[in-house]
Amino acid sequence: MSLFGAEDVESVAGEEVVPKKVKATTKKGQSATKKGQSTTKKVDSKAASAMEKAAVVPKIPKPLPEYDHTQLFERLARSDFRRSFHLCVQDRAYIDKKGLGTIQLHAEDFVEKRLAPANPHNDGSQTPMRGHPVFRAQHATGCCCRGCFEKWHHIPAGRPLTEKEQLYAVSVLMSWIRKEMK
Ligand SMILES: [Zn+2]
Repeated sequence: MSLFGAEDVESVAGEEVVPKKVKATTKKGQSATKKGQSTTKKVDSKAASAMEKAAVVPKIPKPLPEYDHTQLFERLARSDFRRSFHLCVQDRAYIDKKGLGTIQLHAEDFVEKRLAPANPHNDGSQTPMRGHPVFRAQHATGCCCRGCFEKWHHIPAGRPLTEKEQLYAVSVLMSWIRKEMK
């Protein structure tokens, strides 16, 4: 696991799970940075659009540790309830529009605010069944509430989630979303 930079996210996450769109955005972002440093006047259209994006989304998703979720997804696939969740047309359109990086930022935010506290607000019913692709992913993967999180991921309820556990949850959610988007 590495703590630095978007480049590391790519190499850590591996070829299968990193969509081309995210890579393209990353490269644009990098070239924009380099150009910004070397010349201030000459900004090509690629760099300009990357800068525009950066202005809209100032935060970058956190590098996720490398996890093998194969066994988890096999277990989830044996649950009629969990495997009934899929991205809908609107979810897919939203992901296409926002990009997976932004979706991950949302996942990080939902996990931190709605799952990570020792006693989350309305725990057990804090995650809507629809309305955001991450909500679907949460139900599909048992990351919807602390009871389900304990049952499926063996991380005890009743205490705050550590930073590492939060990243684990985000990694599960993003893996599910990437699988659905294939
Ligand atoms: Zn639940």
